Amino acid sequence: MPLVPMRVILEASLEAYKKGKPFAAGAYNVNNMEQMQGIMRSAKETLSPVIIQASRGALKYADMNYIKHIMLAAIELNPEVPVAMHLDHGNNLDAVKKAIDLGFSSVMIDGSLMEDGKTPSAYEYNVRVTKEVAEYAHSFGVTVEGELGTLGGIEDGVGSGKIHLTDPLQAEDFVRETKADALALAIGTSHGAYKFKVEPKLAFDIIEKVRKLLPDTFLVSHGSSSVPGDLIDAINKFGGNMQHTMGVPLESLKQAIALGINKINVDTDTRLAVTAAIRRFFAEHPDKFDPRDYLGPARDAIYDVIKSRMIAFGTAGRIKDVRIKNLEEMKKFYTFAASKVPS
Ligand SMILES: [Zn+2]
Repeated sequence: MPLVPMRVILEASLEAYKKGKPFAAGAYNVNNMEQMQGIMRSAKETLSPVIIQASRGALKYADMNYIKHIMLAAIELNPEVPVAMHLDHGNNLDAVKKAIDLGFSSVMIDGSLMEDGKTPSAYEYNVRVTKEVAEYAHSFGVTVEGELGTLGGIEDGVGSGKIHLTDPLQAEDFVRETKADALALAIGTSHGAYKFKVEPKLAFDIIEKVRKLLPDTFLVSHGSSSVPGDLIDAINKFGGNMQHTMGVPLESLKQAIALGINKINVDTDTRLAVTAAIRRFFAEHPDKFDPRDYLGPARDAIYDVIKSRMIAFGTAGRIKDVRIKNLEEMKKFYTFAASKVPS
């Protein structure tokens, strides 16, 4: 232990919301060892349950088996931290099957886009593919996240670049039809570093409406990096050339958490932290050439940014709230839930 189904971490979040002490679980993307180590150091120190996720891009870049074993090493070395291994933006049942074969405890199927990860899909397509994935994944006790509506921006080749906000009534129908555990909402957030020119206004009314209509569904906010100005400035100071850009302010995310968001995806902020740390090191130490000399500070920078997110999202100190279940126990839960609902 404890590799856990993502569901048990999100159950703790939903319960905390219902008790008036909300927090969201951060979901952090992993592509390599230093990222994994930075994230786990933050989780261990702040006593935070953690969702580590790999996009299809990450699995392609590093090879699925490397990512799998980096994740397993993190779990082995941190037995006190509940960890969910999550596939980010799965594009079809095949991708989901591969992730489950590798031992992932949670999968996202993004049926808001077609298999190419770019073209917005029809609602009926989204329902069909998400339902198919939920039936398959639940038979292994694996948690399922779907998505309804589309975000702005593009990251790792995923995204149509067009914003189409989630319709709350359609969200209710979607979850009833598909049995997805978690639902990613389009509330005006955006993928990637170049999100906004001015501070964005999130559609908080959508969160409120969906939270009322779907009291037992876990709600997810993608594209939620804050793109801190000091990291952009550091990158530009040490030879970078990033244009003016803004992310989602932490205050907006805190408001979203208070309204019932349970999972927040952060990827860009760790990328920026890594780049800023390495650029600074190269500028200040042009004579050094040992990769450990600059990957070490990059790892520390990841730790810093993730730790501040774990504190801001209220995840810190919540390990004690997670009721650990394994995939076998989760399987029984889904079988029981299915037997109660006449189909
Ligand atoms: Zn996303």
